[in-house]
This record gives sequence, structure tokens and C-alpha cells, in this order.
Amino acid sequence: MTTSAHPAAEAVPTASTVTDRLVEANERYASDFTDPGMDARPVLRVAVVACMDARLDLHAALGLELGDCHTIRNAGGVVTDDVIRSLTISQRALKTRSVVLIHHTGCGLESLTEEFRHELEMEVGQRPAWAVEAFRDVDQDVRQSMQRVRTSPFLLHTDDVRGFVFDVTTGLLREIDPSDAPSADQA
Ligand SMILES: [Zn+2]
Repeated sequence: MTTSAHPAAEAVPTASTVTDRLVEANERYASDFTDPGMDARPVLRVAVVACMDARLDLHAALGLELGDCHTIRNAGGVVTDDVIRSLTISQRALKTRSVVLIHHTGCGLESLTEEFRHELEMEVGQRPAWAVEAFRDVDQDVRQSMQRVRTSPFLLHTDDVRGFVFDVTTGLLREIDPSDAPSADQA
């Protein structure tokens, strides 16, 4: 974002930024694009909640096509109030009924603690309203996320909720059994 009042001509960048690259790619995409003629309701009636990790290509990894699903992503793929907000709209307004939760190996949240929040407060003088949602045991975090979806009073459909860990080195999903107890050796 520029803060200057310079005329637009002076603001033209000399070197292309990453965003310029994306905009150029979009022009190529749009030149081959044809209107799929869909409405906003996902064809497969599924919402996928996943980590924002750059190594997880949800559409490729799950064989999804344009229009198939809702994708809701954040750091960790954790079920926050805002994810519940999106799922509620997804189910009540746009008719999805299955929920798939995907965490992954090597998640950045495994190296953080709630101390991150404290350090942030010390640095900027304000405590964030949100939890970091850091975790040590990815399987247990998937179970907790499944539980948060299943117990939400706002959702219409909580019978088809499944959770997985995506292995970023093999590309494979491993399903998490919601009834398994947390492993005894977890930190
Ligand atoms: Zn992650």
C-alpha cells in the first residue's frame, strides 16, 4: 500500500512484484475461461476445512473439480469460531452436509506455543483476542476439531464429519479415529 500522494504515473513499479505475477497469470487464466454456468452450491455438498500450508493442494490431493466443494482454510486448519461461521453458512445457505477436516505433518503450529500470544502482547501492547491454537499432537488436534464441529449448535449436519492428517512427503491422507484416546507419550 502506498501512502504517497504522487500521481499514479510515478507509482508504476519498475520491477514486477509477486502480486503482479499473479495478476498476469490471471489474465492468461481468464483468456481460456468459460462460464461454468454453476450456482454457488457445491456440487458434492461437502466443506473441507484445512490448514493454509502451501504444500497442501486440496483440489489436486482430493480429486476435486471447480465447483465441487467449499474450502475453508486457516493456520492449522483448526475449528475456530470463524470456521464455524463459514460452516454454518455453507450448510444452511448453500446446502453442504459433509465436513472433511485436514491437518498435516510438519505443521508450523507444532513449533509454536501460547507463549507466542504473550510475546505479541509484550511487543505491541495489546493482547490478541484469538488463541494461537498451537498443538503438539496432530492426531489429537484433529480429534478436537472433529469434536468442535460435531458439538456445534449452529450446524444442521454433524453426522458425516471425518478428519485426516495429510503427509506432506507422500501426499497421502491418514484418517483419524475420533474414538481413539490421546497417545500417552504426548507432550
Ligand atoms: Zn499447517
